[in-house]
Amino acid sequence: MTLGDMRDLGVRRLIASCLNHSCRHTTLVEVWTYPAATEITYFKRRVACAICGARGERIDVRPNWKEQPPVPAKR
Ligand SMILES: [Zn+2]
Repeated sequence: MTLGDMRDLGVRRLIASCLNHSCRHTTLVEVWTYPAATEITYFKRRVACAICGARGERIDVRPNWKEQPPVPAKR
């Protein structure tokens, strides 16, 4: 998935979650400055936990689905 795909779904930010069990820090990542063709996996390689310094396989980066607008109910 790219940032463009994500934006088409109404999501503008990524959420990065630290997978270190004693940390579990989560943070929203502003990505509006990056082009639509940027793959989300690109951020997974770059983001580091601000609390414990975990990175790479110990960080989960995904679209922040919570900000996706609700799907209108079908009638
Ligand atoms: Zn951490």
